[in-house]
Amino acid sequence: MCTCPQKYSLHPYTGCSHKCLYCYATYYVRYTDSKPKRDFLGRLKRDLNKADRRIPIVLSSSSDPYPPEEKEYKLTRGALRLLQRYGFKVLIMTKSDMVLRDMDIVKKDGICVSITITTLDRKLSKIIEPNAPSPDKRLSTLKELTKMNVRTIVRVDPIIPLLNDDPIELRELVAVLAEYGVRHIVTSTYKFRLDSYKRLIEAFPEYSNTWKLLYVNRGVKVGSYRYLARSLREKLLRPIVHEASRLGLTYATCRERLITKEFFNSPTCDGTHLLRV
Ligand code: SF4
Repeated sequence: MCTCPQKYSLHPYTGCSHKCLYCYATYYVRYTDSKPKRDFLGRLKRDLNKADRRIPIVLSSSSDPYPPEEKEYKLTRGALRLLQRYGFKVLIMTKSDMVLRDMDIVKKDGICVSITITTLDRKLSKIIEPNAPSPDKRLSTLKELTKMNVRTIVRVDPIIPLLNDDPIELRELVAVLAEYGVRHIVTSTYKFRLDSYKRLIEAFPEYSNTWKLLYVNRGVKVGSYRYLARSLREKLLRPIVHEASRLGLTYATCRERLITKEFFNSPTCDGTHLLRV
């Protein structure tokens, strides 16, 4: 179940060079490097003439708008310019510090930035998000964005049992994010699908039996995914939402069906409410 408000999703690239093992997008897009879309800016211009300016645009929900290829193609930069010229509100979702290159555009009203940080453990991040900038770089990006009064959101997701589920580390991560001026936290657990699961067990064969037990034997089928049992999902996410609550941040869980105040205290899950205030 998705609790997101209505929004357009914009992808300058297909595929994603960051190659996160847990990536859900590879269910419908091949696990390949980012490829620029043909005539992307021309087509975007035509579409913007027909689009409803009241609906925010997310750049991008199932690929990263700042893969290394963006240095050369500058499609995301071009898109941001156009979106701003047409008066659209934009939520940038990325793992990359390259967003700072576009600070001249990003710092203006109507843009928020959501950065994903799954762990502060550099070694673990290098395995599960091999080509994405390090967690340190993502933190320093948040710092810079806050300095420039850009509203920031952090996605602490997905939480994968045995990998990045240590409750003390998760609380510490949220505390650091609050210090860096982050306004909103989104979190969720990893949802099992065969393509991403195969990549995970290849990297962590020692956990395959436990993951099978948790997802296949004890988990539940939701659409085309297998979820962990609800009680376990609640247990894994509690340290994050409790710490966010304690520190006065807004927080939400994503596609978890956990919408009580304990797990969701925000007008939107994805942080697009920050575009309106
Ligand atoms: S950055 Fe996002 S879209 Fe890119 S591989 Fe990682 S999870 Fe997938």
